[in-house]
Amino acid sequence: MIGIGILSGMAVTLRNFVGSYFEKDRLITVQYPEERETLPENYRNFPFLVYDTDDAAAGLRCVACKICEKECPPQCIYIVKSDDKKPDYMGKLQLYPKVFDIDISVCMSCQICVEVCPFEAIKMDKVFELSCRERFDTLLMRKEELSKSNIYYHKIHPVEAAEVDANLAAAAEAKKKKA
Ligand code: SF4
Ligand code: SF4
Repeated sequence: MIGIGILSGMAVTLRNFVGSYFEKDRLITVQYPEERETLPENYRNFPFLVYDTDDAAAGLRCVACKICEKECPPQCIYIVKSDDKKPDYMGKLQLYPKVFDIDISVCMSCQICVEVCPFEAIKMDKVFELSCRERFDTLLMRKEELSKSNIYYHKIHPVEAAEVDANLAAAAEAKKKKA
């Protein structure tokens, strides 16, 4: 019969409209910011730097190799290497970034910096409430703002962070056996 599709579609709409007063699951809108949905594990927006232990400066995994800076397509990473060295997670003396900036007004969230980092030092964050009135300085994230703990990484990407920890532990163990 002509129009049966329209009628059945309207019946679904009506059922959901009336049902939404009784069953919350039928509501597809969220009353943001009072209500928030849990973001999926693989949601990502801008990068952050991971540090181990509870000391952001000493525990930073980044060794300022600059690979991410070179590979970033819009060139929004800026790194200055340190003059001295500090031990990394395997106890090896490494350089660290004296300056590490990311201009998130330019970042396109491609995750290439994460893919190319050989040290598991940079990962994608889930923070999205970053709107501001000033376009330049406020959206230029500096090392201090970018540095977040491994505990935080586990909170936002539990599966991925557990895999990374296992890989780093295996690498440290293999190195110990070689020595
Ligand atoms: S996510 Fe992409 S655009 Fe953003 S800093 Fe990393 S490589 Fe650059
Ligand atoms: S984040 Fe990784 S790739 Fe980028 S400079 Fe640091 S260690 Fe190198």
